[in-house]
Amino acid sequence: MIFETLDTFGHEQVVFCHNKDAGLKAIIAIHNTVLGPALGGTRMWPYASEAEALNDVLRLSRGMTYKNAVAGLNIGGGKAVIIGDPAKDKSEALFRAFGQFVDSLGGRYITAEDVGIDVNDMEYVYRETQYVTGVHQIHGGSGDPSPFTAYGALQGLMATLNKKFGDEDVGKYSYAVQGLGHVGMEYVKLLKERGAKIFVTDIHKDRVEKAVTDFGAEAVAPDAIYDVEADVYSPCALGGTVNEQTLPRFKFKVICGAANNQLSTDAIGDEVVKRGILYAPDYAVNAGGVMNVALELDGYNRERAMRMMRTIYHNLTRIYEIADRDGIPTYRAADRLAEERISAIGKLKLPMGRSQPRFQGRIRSA
Ligand code: NAD
Repeated sequence: MIFETLDTFGHEQVVFCHNKDAGLKAIIAIHNTVLGPALGGTRMWPYASEAEALNDVLRLSRGMTYKNAVAGLNIGGGKAVIIGDPAKDKSEALFRAFGQFVDSLGGRYITAEDVGIDVNDMEYVYRETQYVTGVHQIHGGSGDPSPFTAYGALQGLMATLNKKFGDEDVGKYSYAVQGLGHVGMEYVKLLKERGAKIFVTDIHKDRVEKAVTDFGAEAVAPDAIYDVEADVYSPCALGGTVNEQTLPRFKFKVICGAANNQLSTDAIGDEVVKRGILYAPDYAVNAGGVMNVALELDGYNRERAMRMMRTIYHNLTRIYEIADRDGIPTYRAADRLAEERISAIGKLKLPMGRSQPRFQGRIRSA
Protein backbone atom coordinates (compact mmCIF):
# COMPACT_ATOMS: atom_id res chain seq x y z
CA MET A 1 0.00 0.00 0.00
CA ILE A 2 2.76 2.49 0.95
CA PHE A 3 4.98 1.47 -1.97
CA GLU A 4 2.04 1.84 -4.32
CA THR A 5 1.62 5.43 -3.15
CA LEU A 6 5.36 6.09 -3.46
CA ASP A 7 5.20 4.70 -6.97
CA THR A 8 2.35 7.04 -7.92
CA PHE A 9 4.03 10.13 -6.48
CA GLY A 10 7.56 9.07 -7.48
CA HIS A 11 9.24 9.34 -4.09
CA GLU A 12 12.80 8.06 -3.63
CA GLN A 13 12.88 7.44 0.12
CA VAL A 14 10.68 7.76 3.20
CA VAL A 15 12.22 7.53 6.65
CA PHE A 16 10.20 6.86 9.80
CA CYS A 17 11.98 8.36 12.80
CA HIS A 18 11.23 7.13 16.29
CA ASN A 19 12.80 7.86 19.66
CA LYS A 20 10.64 6.79 22.58
CA ASP A 21 12.56 8.62 25.30
CA ALA A 22 12.54 11.90 23.41
CA GLY A 23 8.87 11.41 22.40
CA LEU A 24 9.80 11.70 18.72
CA LYS A 25 7.57 10.44 15.96
CA ALA A 26 8.57 11.96 12.65
CA ILE A 27 8.58 11.15 8.94
CA ILE A 28 11.12 12.46 6.46
CA ALA A 29 10.15 12.16 2.79
CA ILE A 30 12.72 12.59 0.04
CA HIS A 31 10.84 13.00 -3.19
CA ASN A 32 13.49 13.72 -5.81
CA THR A 33 17.23 14.44 -5.73
CA VAL A 34 17.97 14.68 -9.46
CA LEU A 35 18.80 18.38 -9.23
CA GLY A 36 20.56 18.18 -5.85
CA PRO A 37 19.96 17.36 -2.19
CA ALA A 38 16.33 17.45 -1.10
CA LEU A 39 15.48 20.69 0.72
CA GLY A 40 12.24 21.38 2.51
CA GLY A 41 10.98 22.46 5.89
CA THR A 42 9.92 20.46 8.92
CA ARG A 43 6.31 20.87 10.00
CA MET A 44 5.12 20.10 13.54
CA TRP A 45 1.42 19.38 13.73
CA PRO A 46 -0.96 17.37 15.96
CA TYR A 47 -2.01 15.04 13.14
CA ALA A 48 -5.16 13.07 13.90
CA SER A 49 -3.58 9.89 12.54
CA GLU A 50 -0.29 8.53 11.24
CA ALA A 51 -1.88 8.13 7.81
CA GLU A 52 -2.70 11.84 7.78
CA ALA A 53 0.90 12.70 8.67
CA LEU A 54 2.25 10.41 5.95
CA ASN A 55 -0.11 11.85 3.39
CA ASP A 56 0.91 15.38 4.28
CA VAL A 57 4.64 14.74 4.09
CA LEU A 58 4.33 12.93 0.75
CA ARG A 59 2.24 15.74 -0.74
CA LEU A 60 4.43 18.53 0.64
CA SER A 61 7.76 16.94 -0.35
CA ARG A 62 6.55 16.45 -3.93
CA GLY A 63 5.48 20.11 -3.97
CA MET A 64 9.02 21.10 -2.95
CA THR A 65 10.52 19.25 -5.92
CA TYR A 66 8.38 21.34 -8.28
CA LYS A 67 8.95 24.59 -6.42
CA ASN A 68 12.74 24.16 -6.24
CA ALA A 69 12.95 23.11 -9.87
CA VAL A 70 10.93 26.07 -11.16
CA ALA A 71 12.97 28.40 -8.95
CA GLY A 72 16.04 27.29 -10.92
CA LEU A 73 17.78 25.92 -7.82
CA ASN A 74 20.20 22.97 -7.81
CA ILE A 75 18.07 21.46 -5.11
CA GLY A 76 15.65 18.57 -4.97
CA GLY A 77 12.42 18.19 -3.02
CA GLY A 78 11.89 16.88 0.49
CA LYS A 79 9.94 17.60 3.62
CA ALA A 80 9.59 16.34 7.18
CA VAL A 81 6.71 16.19 9.65
CA ILE A 82 6.90 15.77 13.40
CA ILE A 83 3.73 14.40 14.93
CA GLY A 84 2.92 16.52 17.99
CA ASP A 85 1.42 19.71 19.31
CA PRO A 86 3.84 22.62 18.95
CA ALA A 87 2.23 24.31 21.97
CA LYS A 88 2.82 21.33 24.30
CA ASP A 89 5.19 18.72 22.93
CA LYS A 90 8.38 20.61 22.13
CA SER A 91 11.63 19.77 23.96
CA GLU A 92 15.35 19.94 23.41
CA ALA A 93 15.59 16.15 23.35
CA LEU A 94 12.88 15.87 20.71
CA PHE A 95 14.58 18.26 18.30
CA ARG A 96 18.03 16.83 18.93
CA ALA A 97 16.73 13.31 18.30
CA PHE A 98 15.17 14.60 15.08
CA GLY A 99 18.49 16.26 14.16
CA GLN A 100 20.25 12.92 14.53
CA PHE A 101 17.90 11.36 12.01
CA VAL A 102 18.47 14.23 9.57
CA ASP A 103 22.21 13.76 10.05
CA SER A 104 21.98 10.02 9.40
CA LEU A 105 20.91 10.82 5.82
CA GLY A 106 24.33 12.37 5.18
CA GLY A 107 23.04 15.44 3.35
CA ARG A 108 20.46 13.80 1.08
CA TYR A 109 17.87 15.81 3.02
CA ILE A 110 18.38 19.35 4.33
CA THR A 111 15.80 20.70 6.70
CA ALA A 112 14.37 24.17 7.40
CA GLU A 113 11.55 25.80 9.36
CA ASP A 114 7.91 25.29 8.49
CA VAL A 115 4.55 25.57 10.28
CA GLY A 116 4.91 25.03 14.05
CA ILE A 117 8.72 25.34 14.08
CA ASP A 118 10.82 28.38 14.91
CA VAL A 119 14.46 29.37 14.86
CA ASN A 120 14.98 28.23 18.50
CA ASP A 121 13.87 24.68 17.61
CA MET A 122 16.26 24.72 14.67
CA GLU A 123 19.11 25.62 17.02
CA TYR A 124 18.61 22.24 18.75
CA VAL A 125 18.49 20.44 15.40
CA TYR A 126 21.70 22.25 14.45
CA ARG A 127 23.50 20.81 17.49
CA GLU A 128 23.16 17.36 15.91
CA THR A 129 23.47 18.09 12.21
CA GLN A 130 24.85 20.58 9.76
CA TYR A 131 22.15 19.74 7.25
CA VAL A 132 19.87 22.49 8.39
CA THR A 133 19.01 25.96 7.06
CA GLY A 134 17.15 28.79 8.74
CA VAL A 135 19.36 28.75 11.82
CA HIS A 136 20.26 31.93 13.65
CA GLN A 137 22.11 34.60 11.70
CA ILE A 138 25.22 34.20 13.89
CA HIS A 139 25.69 30.75 12.33
CA GLY A 140 25.37 32.16 8.82
CA GLY A 141 21.60 31.75 8.69
CA SER A 142 19.55 34.00 6.44
CA GLY A 143 16.99 35.27 8.97
CA ASP A 144 13.35 36.08 8.17
CA PRO A 145 12.68 35.29 4.51
CA SER A 146 9.44 37.33 4.30
CA PRO A 147 10.88 40.58 2.85
CA PHE A 148 12.53 38.49 0.14
CA THR A 149 9.33 36.62 -0.54
CA ALA A 150 7.50 39.95 -0.92
CA TYR A 151 10.15 41.37 -3.24
CA GLY A 152 10.14 38.15 -5.26
CA ALA A 153 6.34 38.31 -5.51
CA LEU A 154 6.69 41.83 -6.91
CA GLN A 155 8.97 40.47 -9.65
CA GLY A 156 6.39 37.80 -10.44
CA LEU A 157 3.70 40.47 -10.51
CA MET A 158 5.63 42.56 -13.03
CA ALA A 159 6.03 39.60 -15.39
CA THR A 160 2.32 38.86 -15.01
CA LEU A 161 1.22 42.45 -15.71
CA ASN A 162 3.45 42.41 -18.75
CA LYS A 163 1.78 39.25 -20.02
CA LYS A 164 -1.74 40.50 -19.34
CA PHE A 165 -1.51 44.22 -20.17
CA GLY A 166 1.70 44.57 -22.18
CA ASP A 167 3.46 46.74 -19.60
CA GLU A 168 4.83 46.24 -16.11
CA ASP A 169 4.00 49.60 -14.60
CA VAL A 170 2.90 48.39 -11.15
CA GLY A 171 1.62 51.86 -10.18
CA LYS A 172 -0.88 51.98 -13.06
CA TYR A 173 -3.00 49.17 -11.62
CA SER A 174 -5.14 48.56 -8.53
CA TYR A 175 -4.76 45.71 -6.04
CA ALA A 176 -6.83 43.79 -3.51
CA VAL A 177 -4.42 42.38 -0.93
CA GLN A 178 -5.68 39.71 1.47
CA GLY A 179 -3.51 39.21 4.56
CA LEU A 180 -1.15 41.78 6.06
CA GLY A 181 1.30 39.50 7.85
CA HIS A 182 5.03 39.17 7.33
CA VAL A 183 4.79 39.02 3.55
CA GLY A 184 1.55 40.94 2.87
CA MET A 185 2.52 44.13 4.69
CA GLU A 186 5.89 44.30 2.95
CA TYR A 187 4.21 43.65 -0.40
CA VAL A 188 1.77 46.52 0.24
CA LYS A 189 4.73 48.76 1.02
CA LEU A 190 6.36 47.85 -2.30
CA LEU A 191 3.11 48.52 -4.18
CA LYS A 192 2.73 51.89 -2.45
CA GLU A 193 6.30 52.90 -3.34
CA ARG A 194 5.31 52.39 -6.96
CA GLY A 195 2.21 54.57 -6.59
CA ALA A 196 -0.47 51.85 -6.78
CA LYS A 197 -4.07 52.03 -5.57
CA ILE A 198 -4.40 49.36 -2.85
CA PHE A 199 -7.35 47.74 -1.06
CA VAL A 200 -6.47 45.65 2.00
CA THR A 201 -8.03 43.27 4.46
CA ASP A 202 -6.94 41.20 7.44
CA ILE A 203 -8.68 39.57 10.39
CA HIS A 204 -6.39 41.62 12.67
CA LYS A 205 -7.70 45.20 12.80
CA ASP A 206 -4.38 46.71 13.91
CA ARG A 207 -2.67 45.41 10.76
CA VAL A 208 -5.37 46.94 8.58
CA GLU A 209 -5.00 50.26 10.41
CA LYS A 210 -1.26 50.20 9.85
CA ALA A 211 -1.69 49.64 6.10
CA VAL A 212 -4.20 52.51 5.95
CA THR A 213 -2.04 54.93 7.97
CA ASP A 214 1.40 54.04 6.64
CA PHE A 215 0.61 53.15 3.04
CA GLY A 216 -2.63 54.98 2.23
CA ALA A 217 -4.49 51.73 1.57
CA GLU A 218 -8.31 51.48 1.60
CA ALA A 219 -9.67 49.00 4.17
CA VAL A 220 -12.35 46.43 3.31
CA ALA A 221 -13.97 43.72 5.45
CA PRO A 222 -12.42 40.21 5.19
CA ASP A 223 -15.22 38.74 3.11
CA ALA A 224 -15.65 41.86 0.95
CA ILE A 225 -12.18 41.53 -0.57
CA TYR A 226 -13.55 39.18 -3.25
CA ASP A 227 -15.94 41.86 -4.55
CA VAL A 228 -13.44 44.70 -4.83
CA GLU A 229 -13.16 46.32 -8.24
CA ALA A 230 -9.42 46.02 -8.65
CA ASP A 231 -7.20 44.75 -11.45
CA VAL A 232 -5.22 42.29 -9.32
CA TYR A 233 -6.15 39.95 -6.48
CA SER A 234 -3.14 39.25 -4.25
CA PRO A 235 -3.80 36.46 -1.74
CA CYS A 236 -1.17 36.71 1.04
CA ALA A 237 -2.99 34.85 3.83
CA LEU A 238 -4.47 31.38 3.47
CA GLY A 239 -4.64 28.78 0.73
CA GLY A 240 -7.75 27.82 -1.22
CA THR A 241 -9.25 31.31 -1.49
CA VAL A 242 -9.87 30.93 -5.22
CA ASN A 243 -12.78 28.51 -5.06
CA GLU A 244 -16.34 27.82 -6.23
CA GLN A 245 -17.82 30.40 -3.87
CA THR A 246 -15.35 33.25 -4.46
CA LEU A 247 -14.48 32.98 -8.16
CA PRO A 248 -17.94 33.99 -9.50
CA ARG A 249 -17.57 37.24 -7.54
CA PHE A 250 -14.20 38.20 -9.07
CA LYS A 251 -13.89 41.25 -11.27
CA PHE A 252 -10.11 40.91 -11.13
CA LYS A 253 -8.10 40.38 -14.31
CA VAL A 254 -5.06 38.89 -12.61
CA ILE A 255 -4.41 36.65 -9.57
CA CYS A 256 -0.90 37.08 -8.19
CA GLY A 257 0.08 36.75 -4.53
CA ALA A 258 2.34 34.97 -2.06
CA ALA A 259 -0.07 32.52 -0.37
CA ASN A 260 0.50 28.79 -0.91
CA ASN A 261 -2.06 26.60 -2.73
CA GLN A 262 -4.34 29.44 -3.86
CA LEU A 263 -6.50 27.34 -6.19
CA SER A 264 -8.88 25.06 -4.29
CA THR A 265 -8.86 22.48 -7.10
CA ASP A 266 -7.49 21.97 -10.61
CA ALA A 267 -11.04 22.42 -11.94
CA ILE A 268 -11.08 25.91 -10.43
CA GLY A 269 -7.76 26.58 -12.19
CA ASP A 270 -9.44 25.68 -15.49
CA GLU A 271 -12.41 27.90 -14.66
CA VAL A 272 -10.05 30.83 -13.96
CA VAL A 273 -8.77 30.50 -17.54
CA LYS A 274 -12.34 30.41 -18.95
CA ARG A 275 -13.09 33.68 -17.18
CA GLY A 276 -10.11 35.34 -18.86
CA ILE A 277 -8.23 35.82 -15.59
CA LEU A 278 -4.47 35.32 -15.68
CA TYR A 279 -3.27 33.22 -12.75
CA ALA A 280 0.36 33.56 -11.67
CA PRO A 281 1.24 30.11 -10.25
CA ASP A 282 1.71 30.54 -6.50
CA TYR A 283 4.77 28.39 -5.98
CA ALA A 284 6.66 30.26 -8.71
CA VAL A 285 5.62 33.66 -7.29
CA ASN A 286 6.47 32.90 -3.65
CA ALA A 287 9.79 31.10 -4.26
CA GLY A 288 11.72 33.96 -2.63
CA GLY A 289 11.64 32.21 0.74
CA VAL A 290 13.18 28.98 -0.49
CA MET A 291 15.70 30.82 -2.69
CA ASN A 292 16.80 32.68 0.41
CA VAL A 293 17.41 29.55 2.49
CA ALA A 294 18.99 27.74 -0.47
CA LEU A 295 21.61 30.46 -0.63
CA GLU A 296 22.70 29.49 2.87
CA LEU A 297 24.08 26.29 1.43
CA ASP A 298 26.99 28.03 -0.25
CA GLY A 299 27.41 31.11 1.85
CA TYR A 300 24.64 33.57 2.50
CA ASN A 301 24.78 37.07 1.17
CA ARG A 302 21.83 39.51 1.21
CA GLU A 303 22.79 41.26 -1.98
CA ARG A 304 23.04 37.99 -3.85
CA ALA A 305 19.66 36.98 -2.43
CA MET A 306 18.05 40.19 -3.68
CA ARG A 307 19.52 39.63 -7.16
CA MET A 308 18.24 36.07 -7.14
CA MET A 309 14.67 37.27 -6.44
CA ARG A 310 14.69 38.99 -9.81
CA THR A 311 14.91 35.62 -11.55
CA ILE A 312 11.29 35.09 -10.50
CA TYR A 313 10.35 37.53 -13.29
CA HIS A 314 11.98 35.26 -15.87
CA ASN A 315 10.52 32.09 -14.35
CA LEU A 316 7.00 33.51 -14.67
CA THR A 317 7.67 34.68 -18.22
CA ARG A 318 8.84 31.16 -19.13
CA ILE A 319 5.70 29.66 -17.57
CA TYR A 320 3.50 31.93 -19.71
CA GLU A 321 5.48 30.92 -22.81
CA ILE A 322 4.92 27.23 -22.04
CA ALA A 323 1.20 27.85 -21.42
CA ASP A 324 0.94 29.49 -24.87
CA ARG A 325 3.16 26.89 -26.54
CA ASP A 326 1.17 23.92 -25.24
CA GLY A 327 -2.26 25.55 -24.93
CA ILE A 328 -2.53 24.71 -21.21
CA PRO A 329 -3.50 26.67 -18.09
CA THR A 330 -0.65 28.43 -16.33
CA TYR A 331 -0.88 26.21 -13.23
CA ARG A 332 -0.15 23.20 -15.44
CA ALA A 333 2.58 25.06 -17.32
CA ALA A 334 4.45 25.64 -14.05
CA ASP A 335 4.48 21.88 -13.38
CA ARG A 336 5.63 21.26 -16.93
CA LEU A 337 8.51 23.70 -16.57
CA ALA A 338 9.64 21.80 -13.45
CA GLU A 339 9.33 18.40 -15.14
CA GLU A 340 11.19 19.55 -18.25
CA ARG A 341 14.06 20.93 -16.17
CA ILE A 342 14.38 17.79 -14.03
CA SER A 343 14.28 15.59 -17.12
CA ALA A 344 16.88 17.67 -19.01
CA ILE A 345 19.31 17.92 -16.09
CA GLY A 346 18.78 14.27 -15.16
CA LYS A 347 19.97 13.26 -18.64
CA LEU A 348 23.19 15.26 -18.38
CA LYS A 349 26.27 13.13 -18.11
CA LEU A 350 28.57 14.66 -15.55
CA PRO A 351 32.27 15.01 -16.44
CA MET A 352 34.49 12.19 -15.15
CA GLY A 353 35.01 12.27 -11.43
CA ARG A 354 32.35 14.92 -10.76
CA SER A 355 29.30 14.08 -8.74
CA GLN A 356 26.06 16.01 -8.44
CA PRO A 357 26.49 19.18 -6.34
CA ARG A 358 26.11 18.35 -2.69
CA PHE A 359 25.84 20.35 0.48
CA GLN A 360 29.10 19.84 2.32
CA GLY A 361 27.74 21.07 5.63
CA ARG A 362 27.75 24.46 7.24
CA ILE A 363 31.06 25.91 8.46
CA ARG A 364 30.56 25.85 12.20
CA SER A 365 31.46 28.87 14.22
CA ALA A 366 33.37 27.99 17.39
P1 NAD B 1 1.59 35.51 8.43
O1 NAD B 1 0.99 34.52 9.35
O2 NAD B 1 2.64 36.44 8.92
O3 NAD B 1 0.44 36.41 7.79
C1 NAD B 1 -0.80 35.95 7.38
C2 NAD B 1 -1.80 37.08 7.60
O4 NAD B 1 -3.06 36.69 7.06
C3 NAD B 1 -2.04 37.43 9.08
O5 NAD B 1 -1.92 38.82 9.27
C4 NAD B 1 -3.46 36.91 9.32
O6 NAD B 1 -4.14 37.67 10.30
C5 NAD B 1 -4.07 37.09 7.95
N1 NAD B 1 -5.28 36.30 7.74
C6 NAD B 1 -5.54 35.03 8.14
N2 NAD B 1 -6.76 34.65 7.75
C7 NAD B 1 -7.29 35.70 7.06
C8 NAD B 1 -8.52 35.91 6.41
N3 NAD B 1 -9.47 34.98 6.37
N4 NAD B 1 -8.73 37.11 5.81
C9 NAD B 1 -7.78 38.07 5.85
N5 NAD B 1 -6.59 37.92 6.46
C10 NAD B 1 -6.35 36.74 7.06
O7 NAD B 1 2.13 34.66 7.18
P2 NAD B 1 3.19 35.11 6.08
O8 NAD B 1 4.53 34.62 6.47
O9 NAD B 1 2.98 36.54 5.75
O10 NAD B 1 2.73 34.21 4.84
C11 NAD B 1 1.55 34.52 4.10
C12 NAD B 1 1.32 33.44 3.04
O11 NAD B 1 2.45 33.35 2.18
C13 NAD B 1 1.11 32.04 3.61
O12 NAD B 1 0.20 31.36 2.77
C14 NAD B 1 2.49 31.42 3.47
O13 NAD B 1 2.41 30.01 3.40
C15 NAD B 1 2.96 32.02 2.18
N6 NAD B 1 4.42 32.07 2.06
C16 NAD B 1 5.17 32.78 2.94
C17 NAD B 1 6.56 32.83 2.78
C18 NAD B 1 7.40 33.65 3.72
O14 NAD B 1 8.56 33.92 3.40
N7 NAD B 1 6.90 34.07 4.87
C19 NAD B 1 7.19 32.13 1.73
C20 NAD B 1 6.38 31.40 0.85
C21 NAD B 1 5.00 31.37 1.02
